[in-house]
Amino acid sequence: MNEPVGGTGRFAPSPTGPLHFGSLLAAVASFLDARSSGARWLLRIENIDPPREVPGAAEEIVSLLERYGFEWDGAVRWQADSTAQHETALARLIEDNRAYPCGCSRRSLADQPQGPLGVIYPGTCRNGTTATEYAYRVRTTNDPIRYVDRLQGAQVSHLERESGDFVIKRRDGLVAYQLAVVVDDFLDNVTHVVRGIDLIDSTPRQIWLQRLLGYPTPQYAHIPIAVHPNGDKLSKLTGAPGLDPNAAGSNLSKALLALGQAVPDGLDRASPDEIWAHAIRHWNPDTMLGQQAVTAAPEDQR
Ligand code: GLU
Repeated sequence: MNEPVGGTGRFAPSPTGPLHFGSLLAAVASFLDARSSGARWLLRIENIDPPREVPGAAEEIVSLLERYGFEWDGAVRWQADSTAQHETALARLIEDNRAYPCGCSRRSLADQPQGPLGVIYPGTCRNGTTATEYAYRVRTTNDPIRYVDRLQGAQVSHLERESGDFVIKRRDGLVAYQLAVVVDDFLDNVTHVVRGIDLIDSTPRQIWLQRLLGYPTPQYAHIPIAVHPNGDKLSKLTGAPGLDPNAAGSNLSKALLALGQAVPDGLDRASPDEIWAHAIRHWNPDTMLGQQAVTAAPEDQR
């Protein structure tokens, strides 16, 4: 995997629950990718979805990352602070006729074919809607969107047939993740995105929005996701437990192992600073090339 020289990486958790082992892997990999190559590393809490937010989760995530010895450049970024810029980007897309209101309800689309992120939108409202409650969708085409993932290799998507025009502002008035993350990565000058492969299906949509808005496209590296020994993905939605704030050494060592790094005996008893010094020096992401899932040893939980 080619290494960034300078540049900016980030970790962008949503405060929908405490940090679990799966998100720790994204935090560790993005941090090491940045720190081993002299890039900046930012922490952005993606708190723009109040219905899904768990009270106290954001503060808990920040404090756990501190306990685990992560150091980010500058202050924590709060995605909710940039909602005005999200709206400006949306307004531009509407003005350029790249986005349009869509009054289709979930139920009215239920029988449509499904893509990796839900219904493939058939374009019903492309030429207008009389609905009084609506979302906004961005127009897509079948021109191939290609990029080379630093870990997963060459990727290609045809958005119109694989996802259809997708939602960038929800019916409930909230700007959708796809647009918010693109605007914030741009505002933060992010050049290197390292995150779980569960988000790889979103990447072509994000690249499409970057093109429409005239933003540069960062380099992407999608790391394998952690799965339970039975194969189920670890996630907040499947109730993955929060990490024990007092088990930094043990959980960081398990994360390094899951990310294919050599972990010397006794590292799990070292301090976070010692672990980071070792891990930054020895970071070798190529062990994860083409890998999509890793079975995680049981983590130390709260
Ligand atoms: N906030 C997203 C999440 O927690 C991740 C965003 C990203 O890394 O692009 O799933």
